[in-house]
Amino acid sequence: MLPAVEIEDLTVAYGDKPALWDVDLRVPRGVLMAIVGPNGAGKTTLLKATLGLVKAAAGNVRILGRPYEQQRRLVAYVPQRSSVDWDFPTTVLDVVMMGRYGQLGWLRRPGRAEHEAALAALAQVQLTDFAHRQIGQLSGGQQQRVFLARALAQNAEVYFMDEPFQGVDAVTERAIIHILRDLRAAGKTVVVVHHDLQTVPEYFDQVALINVRRIAAGPVREVFTEANLRATYGGRLNILGANGTGGVATPAPAPGD
Ligand code: ATP
Repeated sequence: MLPAVEIEDLTVAYGDKPALWDVDLRVPRGVLMAIVGPNGAGKTTLLKATLGLVKAAAGNVRILGRPYEQQRRLVAYVPQRSSVDWDFPTTVLDVVMMGRYGQLGWLRRPGRAEHEAALAALAQVQLTDFAHRQIGQLSGGQQQRVFLARALAQNAEVYFMDEPFQGVDAVTERAIIHILRDLRAAGKTVVVVHHDLQTVPEYFDQVALINVRRIAAGPVREVFTEANLRATYGGRLNILGANGTGGVATPAPAPGD
């Protein structure tokens, strides 16, 4: 079956400093994949380069067998919450409706169908009551869910999410993981930058370990090993348990984190 995402020889540099070096990654269809690695490993850069938001020095990205530019409408992106200006004067519903613009084309105004799709997505993330609130008046967890709703409204095939669990409480985390599982059950593919190593085996089918280079990628049970985690995090990894599996490892905080 055609993979959802195929990345070949991807190299990205900011100035003369490489953030990603010759990365290959293949994401099968219908899986939940975690992108894992230390701070500054290039995880966000990997998503942004895949979506054409930063320019690659070299490499090739295909989404469902074609270049991203031809598949834009099939791809949804949930950016890091901190990367957005939340003071921008707009409502929750307007942000979620933006998820529909790809289907709509720029020249048509959103109508009843778009409105209903946006409201359905807001209901999925339990934010119906917040539809008309200004986005600046939301908590961190609510902001995260607004972005998720925008991505859901898009009805994409492949979802890229940059730390969707960051700053959310345990209840919201469960709600988000539930939504990710629903997406998988519907045959969608979800690629998530994720920091909590403890939950990788429970939440994800596949994992990519990144530290500028691709250290390893594939099914969690094959790839999420102590040896691979050590290769990814180096000396900054504390192994809490004795059985040596990644499910019990946590990265030690980097100086200045
Ligand atoms: P984190 O876990 O801290 O979010 P990350 O793995 O997502 O990190 P990136 O944000 O992709 O890492 O950054 C990779 C490297 O590129 C880092 O060293 C970072 O400082 C650098 N970098 C990222 N964006 C830029 C930019 N716009 N200009 C210059 N350097 C950048």
